[in-house]
Amino acid sequence: MATVLTEPKTSAQAQVKQTKILINNEWVDSVSGRTFDTVNPATGEVIAKVAEADAADVDLAVKAARKAFHSKSPWRKMSASERGKLISRLADLIEKNADELATLEALDNGKPRHIARTADLPLVAACYRYYAGWADKIQGKTIPIAGDYFCYTRHEPVGVVGQIIPWNFPLLMQAWKLGPALACGNTVVLKVAEQTPLTALRVGELIVEAGFPEGVVNILPGYGPTAGAAIALHMDVDKIAFTGSTEVGHLIMQAAAETNLKRVTLELGGKSPNIVFADSDLEEAVEGSHFALFFNQGQCCCAGSRAFVEDKIYDEFVARSTERAKRRTVGDPFDTKTEQGPQVDNDQFNKVLSYVEAGKREGAKLMCGGERIGDKGYFVAPTVFADVKDNMKIAQEEIFGPVMSIMKFSDMDELVERANNTMYGLAAAVWTRDIGKAHYIANNVRAGTVWINCFDVFDAAAPFGGFKQSGIGRELGEYGLQQYSEIKTVTVKL
Ligand code: ADP
Repeated sequence: MATVLTEPKTSAQAQVKQTKILINNEWVDSVSGRTFDTVNPATGEVIAKVAEADAADVDLAVKAARKAFHSKSPWRKMSASERGKLISRLADLIEKNADELATLEALDNGKPRHIARTADLPLVAACYRYYAGWADKIQGKTIPIAGDYFCYTRHEPVGVVGQIIPWNFPLLMQAWKLGPALACGNTVVLKVAEQTPLTALRVGELIVEAGFPEGVVNILPGYGPTAGAAIALHMDVDKIAFTGSTEVGHLIMQAAAETNLKRVTLELGGKSPNIVFADSDLEEAVEGSHFALFFNQGQCCCAGSRAFVEDKIYDEFVARSTERAKRRTVGDPFDTKTEQGPQVDNDQFNKVLSYVEAGKREGAKLMCGGERIGDKGYFVAPTVFADVKDNMKIAQEEIFGPVMSIMKFSDMDELVERANNTMYGLAAAVWTRDIGKAHYIANNVRAGTVWINCFDVFDAAAPFGGFKQSGIGRELGEYGLQQYSEIKTVTVKL
């Protein structure tokens, strides 16, 4: 059985410094005066009360961002290299405060603190640094058009950008959003997830400390259907960048269509195939597939949640994966031996357990897990289902939890069809020693990212995003910048 290490502590191990709304470089209460609780998922106890932003606060934030975008504002008059320097200074401050931020992230989100410190935080700083480097390299072209004209393009910022982020990687999602938006010279109204507002607000303090002019970054904690919807519907927001569920992605697009046709980029759900051939290094494939699914409590949009395993090694793969899941250490996020913390909140916890019930009901074979661990907090035992069929709910819908579904295949062409038989197309992975098979899968799977003999390899320079209903546009890398610029064509008669 998965072990529960030490009992989660109830005492807050991190000092919460900021719980208000950031507008115009000032920390304010919500217009309504309302607050909401943010909860420690390891204990179910309230960590802090946080200002609850709603439409009126969004309106103030958009006004501040619009003013900061005015052509005579300090931000717009600032040189691109100065802009880069500010982003770089923010990266420095994040590194300087990395221990504190990692602790706060673990407290609010439930992810193991040592993983936040060694995985999330370095990626966050690297993302800001990467985009700091881009700030003064965003440039247009001269174009040789017919006639006596001089034609060139300018890459201008889109304007006031609304950004809505989820709770699974709060600091990292903030970095993916702010980095490219600021490098391109936009101003931002960012709504953080209601489950995990604390680290983004602390970064807000660092943004002010770094010296960003007022109104450039505004940060609002609040709920989706109120504050989030108000951003999506706002007539003076030029673009919206959203990461979250496909369901809400549809609402965001609708809101943009019904209002001002604001530009929309979306990073949505996934049901990523993780394909294991018989000729793979089995030990690596088992460990890699375990990581692909269970990392971050299974709360990754790109999780390898459909493991397709070649018939010849199927039984052994199931046995070894079950054994590995049973050995997974679940418990206190502040224990360095912990591999898996709690799910983020009670809703997610119940949703994951309801998928386990659906798996059992539809006849999948439960190899291990499937139940709650402990009697407080939102811990779910690492769960493995074998003999999963493509049409089962657990093979079709995004579970977003520590539940692995293993399916069998024998024919490669049929496999590709099955792998693509989903509305999603975020990521895929293939484990094999045969370079031909690896590239065949890479070329034929309809997904925005394909990992070969690895999983969850992220880098600020490598684009990430979805085919089909997994999203629109790309984040990270040079491609991520394109979504934050408008192209202007200027033609001069000579
Ligand atoms: P999850 O189900 O994993 O929480 P969501 O898509 O509901 O994913 O949430 C992702 C982000 O979208 C959060 O910041 C949430 O508050 C926000 N959100 C939820 N509903 C809406 C909505 N109707 N309009 C705008 N944002 C929303």
